[in-house]
Amino acid sequence: MTQVETGPSNFIRNIIDNDLETGKHQSIHTRFPPEPNGHLHIGHAKSICLNFGLAQDYSNALCNLRFDDTNPVKEDADYVAAIEEDVRWLGFEWAGDIHYSSDYFEQLYAYAVELIENDKAYVCELNAEQTREYRGTLTSSGKESPFRNRPIQESLDLFARMRAGEFSEGSMMLRAKIDMASPNMKMRDPVIYRIRFAHHHQTGDKWCIYPMYDFTHCISDAIEGITHSLCTLEFEDHRPLYDWVLANISIACKPRQIEFSRLNLQYTLTSKRKLNALIEENIVAGWDDPRMPTISGMRRRGYPAASIREFSKRIGVTKQENTVELASLEACVRENLEANAPRAMAVIDPVKVIISNYENDKTEQLIAPAHPKDESMGTRTLPFSRELLIDRADFREEANKKYKRLVLGKEVRLRNAYVIKAEDVIKDEAGNITEIHCSYDPETLGKNPSDGRKVKGVIHWVDATSNEAAEFRVYERLFLVENPAAAEDIHQVINPESLVVKQGFVELGLAEAVAEKAYQFEREGYFCADSKDSTPQHLVFNRTVALRDSWGG
Ligand code: ATP
Ligand code: MG
Repeated sequence: MTQVETGPSNFIRNIIDNDLETGKHQSIHTRFPPEPNGHLHIGHAKSICLNFGLAQDYSNALCNLRFDDTNPVKEDADYVAAIEEDVRWLGFEWAGDIHYSSDYFEQLYAYAVELIENDKAYVCELNAEQTREYRGTLTSSGKESPFRNRPIQESLDLFARMRAGEFSEGSMMLRAKIDMASPNMKMRDPVIYRIRFAHHHQTGDKWCIYPMYDFTHCISDAIEGITHSLCTLEFEDHRPLYDWVLANISIACKPRQIEFSRLNLQYTLTSKRKLNALIEENIVAGWDDPRMPTISGMRRRGYPAASIREFSKRIGVTKQENTVELASLEACVRENLEANAPRAMAVIDPVKVIISNYENDKTEQLIAPAHPKDESMGTRTLPFSRELLIDRADFREEANKKYKRLVLGKEVRLRNAYVIKAEDVIKDEAGNITEIHCSYDPETLGKNPSDGRKVKGVIHWVDATSNEAAEFRVYERLFLVENPAAAEDIHQVINPESLVVKQGFVELGLAEAVAEKAYQFEREGYFCADSKDSTPQHLVFNRTVALRDSWGG
């Protein structure tokens, strides 16, 4: 396992410290329990960093990866593989084998039988509508099902026949016998098994009854010897049921459920269901579209795993509901890349520069550092010849002093190369500039802007022939509003410029760029080669993040 930065203290660590001090536990055991019904997102990353992070920080502690796969209809083996990859990429490794709730179907069934035998569960034949009616409301108590007091033997027989496939979906269910008058709706004889004639990605067609989440989760935790079962706040009112189930079956382990607030992030959806809808409606290209807040999307976009771990650490773990600024996630990415991303030059909107006083057939191999502050990253070679490309936005025929780039009649420094002066422009019939004719000063190579020449501006460039053509996918946030989850029509709040594709050039050598490893394209932003679409013949770079947070400012 990657050694990950120790997390800061929080209320969960305080509980654990106390449990270790009092001897309640000798060591702790957590789990991360995703439902394999989509790819994991930034919210899951918070839970992963919390659960696996605790296992790293406490001695002899373990964290399981358990697929919570009790709903065969929405789940898929492809998602299982994607989730494993995401957890590992984030830098974590689970204890022992992967677990599946479905591994415990036989045990869960036996515990359900035990509940029936102890008069703690019964087979109910109310239909869905009746069940709802009998449940009551938040302000009125429920009504007991007419099947509630049927003989134990009858429930045992019916439950066995449910399993054998004798009854149709929805005709029967197994319910815990708790309290129809409980102020907690979850305790009003909750359903614990239902009939579903569905193929399951792990158990195939073996089962036609499936246990419900609340029954499954606590027992799975107990079977695995979990000590602290961490989940998000919406499970707070499930906790009495969690405890009830474990108190009423013959299992020794009694894990403790602790809730923390989920991560909400500005301009971001954190619900697999809603993210799936974006895919279904072709708003994005898939789970790993670089605009998605999924772990696979962020990876493809070039976010380093360490920056996501750092973000999780900074947001902390509390019980307060809040929404985190997207800027703080991007700041973590930028800080990491500022220190670690090699520098390179890319011209995204090219215009040609001709150095009139540079020899026709000459090419120099200029040397530039891969990183201005980290010599260990070595150097790179930049071919330089008579014809270059610069960005269109870096030249003006006229400009005031604030514009520190190339202006007709004035000088500018080419990054890692010479000072040039714009002498003339050539335009096409429509008036567009096609060439900028310049002169260069051979004495200025490699000197920095304080070499005595009053040249303030520095612009980037690539050689016009010794380069690589590249496609640039410039990503912006996907939504125009801070809380897209509240939008009535999601189409209305999609940022039409969340992806802008441009064609340009990168410096030679970037044909070998490793996918997902970002470069800083000087003055342009952080970009990485796309893991799906970039090939040496057709380079594609994703913009990971801009150099600065310029949104709305
Ligand atoms: P979704 O609504 O996206 O499907 P979920 O909670 O249903 O989310 P699960 O796969 O069941 O997804 O979640 C696995 C674990 O991740 C759970 O323990 C859950 O509490 C946690 N988790 C999910 N979303 C967040 C979030 N936004 N912040 C923190 N933890 C989260
Ligand atoms: Mg879920």
